[in-house]
Amino acid sequence: MEHVVNQANEAAAASSERQPVKNFIRHLIDADLAAGKNAGAVVTRFPPEPNGYLHIGHAKSICLNFGIARDYRGHCNLRFDDTNPEKETPEFVASIERDVNWLGFHWQGRALYASDYFEQLYQFALELIDQGLAYVCEQSGEEMRTTRGTLTEAGVNSPYRERSVAENRDLFTRMRSGEFADGSRVLRAKIDMASPNINLRDPVLYRIRRTLHHQTGSEWCLYPMYDYTHPISDALEGITHSLCTLEFEDHRPLYDWVLNHITIACHPQQIEFSRLNLQYTIVSKRKLTQLVREKYVHGWDDPRMPTLAGMRRRGYTPEAIRTFCDRIGVTKADNSVEMSLLENTVREDLNLRASRRMAVLKPLRVVISNYPEDQREQLTAANHPQRPELGSRTLPFSREIWIDRDDFVPERPNKSFKRLVKGGEVRLRHAYIIRCDAYEVESEGEISRLICSYDADTLGKNPADGRKVKGVIHWVEAEEAVSAEVRLYDRLFDRPNPEQVAEGEHFTAAINPASLTTLAHCYLEASLAASSAGETYQFEREGYFCRDPETTADAVAVWNRTVTLRDSWSEQGGD
Ligand code: ATP
Ligand code: MG
Repeated sequence: MEHVVNQANEAAAASSERQPVKNFIRHLIDADLAAGKNAGAVVTRFPPEPNGYLHIGHAKSICLNFGIARDYRGHCNLRFDDTNPEKETPEFVASIERDVNWLGFHWQGRALYASDYFEQLYQFALELIDQGLAYVCEQSGEEMRTTRGTLTEAGVNSPYRERSVAENRDLFTRMRSGEFADGSRVLRAKIDMASPNINLRDPVLYRIRRTLHHQTGSEWCLYPMYDYTHPISDALEGITHSLCTLEFEDHRPLYDWVLNHITIACHPQQIEFSRLNLQYTIVSKRKLTQLVREKYVHGWDDPRMPTLAGMRRRGYTPEAIRTFCDRIGVTKADNSVEMSLLENTVREDLNLRASRRMAVLKPLRVVISNYPEDQREQLTAANHPQRPELGSRTLPFSREIWIDRDDFVPERPNKSFKRLVKGGEVRLRHAYIIRCDAYEVESEGEISRLICSYDADTLGKNPADGRKVKGVIHWVEAEEAVSAEVRLYDRLFDRPNPEQVAEGEHFTAAINPASLTTLAHCYLEASLAASSAGETYQFEREGYFCRDPETTADAVAVWNRTVTLRDSWSEQGGD
């Protein structure tokens, strides 16, 4: 069903021609174009490491990179940064491709891999060696750390720093051919151990690691480091603007150093922007991996996860996520975005998009004693109050219906209570006015059934005698009702910044123990029997709900609450 929803999405996106929101990066590109730089080309890339699923932070980067390529009529490459084979898998590769496409973006040609360039990267390393700009170092990791120096103290030169070009070439070639043990040697750039920028203190360019690689198999036992691989991959692809997050600002001199010292025509400009941080959320792949591995959540696509797969399963649309990314903007200032901005964007989007339905989450049986036993009606209800083009559906009506337990109390608790009380009246949405005449109580004191009567002359009109009935409640006809399990989600963490935990505590201490509530016995209106996985509806008065791809062990459909109707966090309570 997802494809159907997506078709509708694309139509909606096309119909609302958008004006790109300008940010400092777009201003920079405008200036480059005005100055005739890069022969007028704009080429960007999105470079994920396939060691996890994409999350909402990645969405910011995807919207930025692919959005710029689209608006400047350039192109954006999807390039897997696959230089750490131990943590990378084909499952992650496939999930990333799927999620980028789902978000509405397409790369030119096939997806690219940094590993496509392993041979070229190796040749460029030889070029650095030949110029006396790289050397094979036999210091251990620990020795390299202790001799690197500090922010205030220069580092100490490695004893292997002055090896001859011939010796370096010989050793590096043998590193490639597998003569040396893992971790026994690295190739380092020969820059400056006294540089105030620690990234320039002879950084490691290559390490030996015997791991099967998901793309290159056992072809290599020598893997290039990110800081070396990234600028060269960018240049080989003719990237004009290499956009990355702020933590790479201090790596930019190394990015430029690499490109300045090899024979390559293109020199992309690295531009940094601030990461997206979202309150009540974690966007660190390492920590998200831990949530999955240690089963705090039911997988990467658990609807509580900030992953695109989780958000899709929860019922967020690609448009809502793109709009959210537009709204947060792109700057160099570190900040943390309020969760309500994301949720309000999703609400706004679904309010327009989602058809209305009725669903009773906490069912209470109602018998309408004066409704003929052999009678059934098919009532008509509009699918959307503001969008007649979405049509209508029929609602069966008969003597027995379900209403929500919260919509009945024996005695009116206060004047503003508009729902049903004993002796009171209420309108059934899209149907009649009913009066509660009596209620039955089970042994444990729980109300088991309401005995009501209906006013047959109130379908689509007010009572003839002019009496006012203010409350309207939702309901579901009992015989044709569809059973469902409904899952209500709350924030996964209990505090705005889940990284802020007490001394010695782990971020998992901030997990909200009530992030999932399962309502196993819900009833949906009959028309939802024909729904499919991935479809989202507004369940009137309850929120937006998306049908899950899975069913329960008893083959009962599962529905995920996408978002409530109102921001219950900012207006606690409410009716
Ligand atoms: P890792 O710690 O595994 O490197 P990462 O979050 O940097 O994690 P990548 O797969 O390297 O993950 O990210 C791909 C791209 O997405 C990078 O260009 C990165 O800058 C960008 N990105 C990642 N997280 C965010 C975020 N929270 N906000 C904006 N951009 C992000
Ligand atoms: Mg990264």
